[in-house]
Amino acid sequence: MHSNYNQGLIIGLCGRLGSGKEEVAQIISKYQGTECQVISITETMNMREFLGDSLKKMEEKQMDLDLSSYNTKQLEELEKLLKDTRDQHFHPHSTKQKLECSLTYNPRHQILYPITDKYELELLYQRNYFHLIAVEAPIIKRYENFMKKYQLNIPLDLFCIIDDVISDNISEFMHKAKVQIGNVGDQKDLLISFYKKYQDIFRPIRPNWNQYFMHLANVVKQRSNCMKRAVGVVIVKDNRIVATGYNGTPYGKQNCWEKGCDRCNQNTKQGVDLEKCFCFHAEESAILEIGTKKSKNMVMYTTLFPCLQCTKIILSTKIDKIYYEEDYDKSAAKSELHKYVKVEQIDSSHYVH
Ligand SMILES: [Zn+2]
Ligand SMILES: [Zn+2]
Ligand SMILES: [Zn+2]
Repeated sequence: MHSNYNQGLIIGLCGRLGSGKEEVAQIISKYQGTECQVISITETMNMREFLGDSLKKMEEKQMDLDLSSYNTKQLEELEKLLKDTRDQHFHPHSTKQKLECSLTYNPRHQILYPITDKYELELLYQRNYFHLIAVEAPIIKRYENFMKKYQLNIPLDLFCIIDDVISDNISEFMHKAKVQIGNVGDQKDLLISFYKKYQDIFRPIRPNWNQYFMHLANVVKQRSNCMKRAVGVVIVKDNRIVATGYNGTPYGKQNCWEKGCDRCNQNTKQGVDLEKCFCFHAEESAILEIGTKKSKNMVMYTTLFPCLQCTKIILSTKIDKIYYEEDYDKSAAKSELHKYVKVEQIDSSHYVH
């Protein structure tokens, strides 16, 4: 498959036991062919030894594999046994060297799995060509996969405890994965899941200029003090920022969410009673910064399509292109704006970070 990258991506796969990380790695590498290499960072060997050792210790201590009759104390004892055994077989940071090898220039994509340790993740996240994918599957499916892979026959509740012990700190970072691949059916379903996520898996490393400024507009909007929705604007000339703006009450006045505006505090419907509103819109606020005279060849990035009031103000400037992210359904503003300036909707999220 053709790729647009010079430096390849590093794709880390994380997921709980039996979720199918290895299958996903194989699918990706098969699809990408020689442009891709799969690197298993902890050996299946460790897991086999851990399992063998754990079951042996349980037998020695005459601990039943069936946990249904266990009391809390016995369950805690089992958990401790499994954790101690885990620490003997899986050493944190043992993969560091292997990971560091992956961080030198490599035009091929690298699929690293499984990512199990938050220190590994910290190291990898230093690079902006790394991203994390979570592989998820229902517990029964994971149980079946696990038993098949390790040729085991243990009860489901024992698997659950092993899963918790091995996946100990995984829940701390699973949510960092921007892409999830669901492994809920058979191999064919997994392939379909992969194809659906393909664009997200192999997304560009850097944001392009448009995504970059829209992303910044989304950061700017966090400063909004309006009770209603938050909007952010960045005005740019020759790819340099000349002004930013967000919505809220005039500078130095009581914030909207401190009852600075009655209309917003009554949760008035979008577009209704706008003449009673004491809040500036983000576009107005940013245009105030530059004035209308200096606005030649400037481009506006706004997180929300401008309202009619802002449209009028924008049209009095020389701003010649508007990029927006979220739509605002007011046809009057839309047709007027489209009549006079170039307007384009963009999605700022489609890049690695
Ligand atoms: Zn407000
Ligand atoms: Zn208001
Ligand atoms: Zn407006």
